[in-house]
Amino acid sequence: MYALVDCNNFFASCERLFNPSLNGRPVVVLSGNDGCVIARSNEAKALGIGMGQPAFELRELFAREKVAIFSSNHILYGDISRRVMEVLSQFSPDVEVYSIDEAFIRLNGLPMPEGCEIYARVIADAVMRCVGIPVSIGIAPTKTLAKIASHRAKKQPRYGGVCYLATPDQRAIALMECPIADVWGVGRRLAPRLIAEGVSTAWDYIQLSREHVRRHYTIEGERTWSELQGILCYGIDEHPASRQSITVSRTFGQSVSTFSDVYEAVADFTATAAARLRRQGSAAGSIMIFVKGRGCSPGRYVGALQLMLPVASDSTIELLQYARRALMSVYRNGEAYKKAGVMLGNIIPRSQVQLSLFDTVDRDKHHRLMQVVDAVNKQAGYRAIHTAAEAGRAEWKAQSNHLSPCYTTSFSDIMIVKAE
Ligand SMILES: [Mg+2]
Repeated sequence: MYALVDCNNFFASCERLFNPSLNGRPVVVLSGNDGCVIARSNEAKALGIGMGQPAFELRELFAREKVAIFSSNHILYGDISRRVMEVLSQFSPDVEVYSIDEAFIRLNGLPMPEGCEIYARVIADAVMRCVGIPVSIGIAPTKTLAKIASHRAKKQPRYGGVCYLATPDQRAIALMECPIADVWGVGRRLAPRLIAEGVSTAWDYIQLSREHVRRHYTIEGERTWSELQGILCYGIDEHPASRQSITVSRTFGQSVSTFSDVYEAVADFTATAAARLRRQGSAAGSIMIFVKGRGCSPGRYVGALQLMLPVASDSTIELLQYARRALMSVYRNGEAYKKAGVMLGNIIPRSQVQLSLFDTVDRDKHHRLMQVVDAVNKQAGYRAIHTAAEAGRAEWKAQSNHLSPCYTTSFSDIMIVKAE
């Protein structure tokens, strides 16, 4: 059995942790540069505030409804996430951190059928007691079904936060009520084709024959089809098709013009993208750097260059060398830059990397070093250790006018409680 533990309204819940006056109030968290809404408390959802909605459209509503607004405090969220995962690791030796606010847990050796559900409630209580973050938990025989179960646990109050799809009947109902686009691994890529074929729910999908699915929706589609029927295809640390490309880009808080400032931003994005690459066990065969100047098109400078790597890599250090080379070609003196980004492409599993005869990079050494860097950052927090290229004056950093203190990671931000 697999349980998917998903933190409810995670960023908004983190902001509430240290500020109980926000309980019962609508809370939103904004993306970099305070641009769009990226997290909403239930009260904010009830006001009709949409995910991804631009903040400027909502200014009046924010004022009228006294919405509490926060800039993204990724250091705080990262640290709270680490604490949640630490609690989860006490309940099973097999925990897979899937994203900042989600983890899969393998549940073994529990007395069926009530055991799983009781255990899940114990886990949810422990996370609430030890960290203070509310979670929804879905339990099912496969990870794809556990995803659907956790979604139900969150959306349908009757479950009280834990949905266990124990019987074939319960699973059938869940599949009939699950739109095909919401199925893990289907997503935006396959959904339009399936809908055109008359498949609108997960249930419709498993009515197709295995041969048909394999022929039209590849081996990945067949795995999803099996998982929906309770046949295990993805163990801990295995997912449906990883991303084909990884992009990290930001609009700068203020325009920057020197090469070193732009490169510092590009290095930061490259390091973030490379860490993502390693987390999914892949390597990239190409890197693209793009920059955008200030102003509107036409007339605005836009530059982009893609470089192919002789050997696919997941090393931040190696990728940075190519990023720098690409930036040197696209950077133009005298421009004021407003945005930059990195896209890693030609992504393959690390195990399939073809070595080159003329390779001069000590790949084992890079790999060991990156493992240490990732382990330190996981323990000590976001960017506790980084390359020199990423550190600097950070003039490009986004504007955050509503940033909360880093309560748990910065001595100067520790809360002070005064006794009368
Ligand atoms: Mg969540």
